[in-house]
Amino acid sequence: MPRLPASSPSDPMNLPVTTLKGVGPRVAEKLARLELRTIQDVLFHLPLRYQDRTRVCPIGALREGMEIVIEGEIEHTEIVFRRRRMLLCRVADGSGAILLRFFYFNQQQSESLRAGISLRCFGEVRRGPQTLEMVHPEYRLQLDDQITGMEETLTPVYPATEGVHQLTLRRLTDEALLQVAGVHELLPMDCVDDPDFPALADALRFLHRPPPDANVALLQEGMHPAQQRLAFEELLAHQLSMLAMRARTAAYSAFPLDVSASASLREHFLANLDFRLTTAQQRVNTEIEEDLLRPQPMMRLVQGDVGSGKTIVAAMACLQAIEAGFQAVVMAPTEILAEQHYQSFCHWLEPLNVDIAWLSGKQKAAPRRKMLARIQSGQAGIVVGTHALFQKDVVFAHLALIVVDEQHRFGVHQRMALREKGEYKGCYPHQLIMTATPIPRTLAQTAYADLDVSVIDELPPGRKPVDTVAMSQARRAKVVEHVAAACRTGRQCYWVCTLVEESEALQCEAAEVTYAKLQKVLVDLRIGLVHGRLKPAEKEGVMQAFKAGELDLLVATTVIEVGVDVPNASLMIIDNAERLGLSQLHQLRGRVGRGSEKSSCVLLYQAPLSENGRKRIEALRKTHDGFKIAQIDLELRGPGELLGTRQTGLMQFRIADLARDEALIPEVTNVAVKLMTESPDLAEALIQRWIGGKSHYREV
Ligand code: ADP
Ligand code: MG
Repeated sequence: MPRLPASSPSDPMNLPVTTLKGVGPRVAEKLARLELRTIQDVLFHLPLRYQDRTRVCPIGALREGMEIVIEGEIEHTEIVFRRRRMLLCRVADGSGAILLRFFYFNQQQSESLRAGISLRCFGEVRRGPQTLEMVHPEYRLQLDDQITGMEETLTPVYPATEGVHQLTLRRLTDEALLQVAGVHELLPMDCVDDPDFPALADALRFLHRPPPDANVALLQEGMHPAQQRLAFEELLAHQLSMLAMRARTAAYSAFPLDVSASASLREHFLANLDFRLTTAQQRVNTEIEEDLLRPQPMMRLVQGDVGSGKTIVAAMACLQAIEAGFQAVVMAPTEILAEQHYQSFCHWLEPLNVDIAWLSGKQKAAPRRKMLARIQSGQAGIVVGTHALFQKDVVFAHLALIVVDEQHRFGVHQRMALREKGEYKGCYPHQLIMTATPIPRTLAQTAYADLDVSVIDELPPGRKPVDTVAMSQARRAKVVEHVAAACRTGRQCYWVCTLVEESEALQCEAAEVTYAKLQKVLVDLRIGLVHGRLKPAEKEGVMQAFKAGELDLLVATTVIEVGVDVPNASLMIIDNAERLGLSQLHQLRGRVGRGSEKSSCVLLYQAPLSENGRKRIEALRKTHDGFKIAQIDLELRGPGELLGTRQTGLMQFRIADLARDEALIPEVTNVAVKLMTESPDLAEALIQRWIGGKSHYREV
């Protein structure tokens, strides 16, 4: 026997796969391709679907699409040449007949499959030119003395990979299931209010080898109690790991931003604004202010629909840091957005004598050095920038607050890296994270269980919903006319170009082409072009001109998706709208409808629309509430897209599916809090089991 890992000495789950019969180092290497390293990995490697080889179906009862076992006698066999050579066998059982079709066969096969022979086949029933057929079924000749029994359970079909086939995986799970009785039950069974909640071992046994009468439809949807049981435990483990992370954060120290002496900067700031804060903004300001007074780092997420006025909330927090004698940084995901924040902050705060520094990746060496010096000396009170804020040579004098705007583009990693950077005399900065992609509550409870959440659930007064219409590309010329007419009456318009590919280069190219075409037909309009490939100064020049009303029409890529604020723009065309996700479309649309003018948005789509595309466009036309839109987006595209974590692998579950298993989350949250306080050992074991060393959160 190999040595057991010290952490959990007797749970067979932790044993390496090589302890299973028939698994040597070579097989183990192949299994590693499927991330199967321990018995637990094997047991959690659940079937994708099931086949029913437990019973024989009368041929007369076959329907297209069934995957099923049949038995019968070959009535007729022939080799035919259509476009290619093939072997056809007609098989009947008294209730009906079916055709077997083989494209690959050798002489021995064609001879053995002769008329009068009985056989048993397993395959998918398809509709052929004349009758139902099976193409390349698995088959076994039933010579009298060889009749074999049927399977006793449904047959699992596992996610497989090259060199690791179904039979290997079935043998492997057979072996692993021999150990399943010894698997530790980590959930106290009284923790869930459901007498039918299966034990872990029972759930695993069931899912790997379901009995013939199992509800296959339920299994297929992932809604079987056995699957839900596992999803529950997995979600619980994730929440526990987030709670553990929150506890670790709470153990850090931070400088309390106590400004009882003077809150005068903030007072002046508010007095200088030409509008009043909304009630929601005020409430969130207070929540943040109280967090910042504590000697532990704030970890707060502000969710607010596009246009709800998050920037002001960020500015208020920064001012509190400065009043208390510290620095704050504001980080944005794109150059354009960072530039715009920089301009807003300069506009608002320079009259208050706040020194604001600016850092971007594209900055030249000399101005950068100057900025770095101002940051390091503490002369700069607020630093605005992009990812460039992460670089080694950026040294803060006394950083106490980090604001991350549009957080879904930043990973937890970056959040942590930034925290480390701000370490100062054993204290860590407060963090404020702002997102305009509202996340459904249940999802937020899972994805952001390490954060406190504030919601700005109110738009500034006077905003009117944006009229949204969908038009096929066939009417593109009409849309161009409409743009021309609108611009001639003094309205400003965005024309947003999209592409399927993530490639920025292609996007820019598409925008350039559209720009050239529009310039040709709309000769009397002042048209600008902005995309990610322009030099920062060029971009800024174009944006400034658009803001100042010197351009009528701005052709842009989705770089303007987040944050760009030009209140006079009241018309937006989104080219190839079917290519974008719902939340992204909502973000884009949020660029208009900010001024007094009634605004509209035209979604230009390429017909025919897919079912999903149609749903998205429909939802957007009917709804203006970012939270509702996020909920629909979650259902249509899943959480990875919504959280922007699809590529990072973050928030990816083995069994749970946040969209499907949403209903479990409130209960998961209850149990997580209870376990954390009452049974910290179990909590830790659950985190180990499901997340182990892989956690992105553990390395904090
Ligand atoms: P977002 O939440 O999308 O980041 P911004 O902070 O960019 O929104 O604010 C959008 C616009 O609304 C800005 O022009 C901002 O000055 C303005 N604004 C913010 N708060 C208010 C308010 N309470 N009343 C009126 N206008 C506001
Ligand atoms: Mg914003």
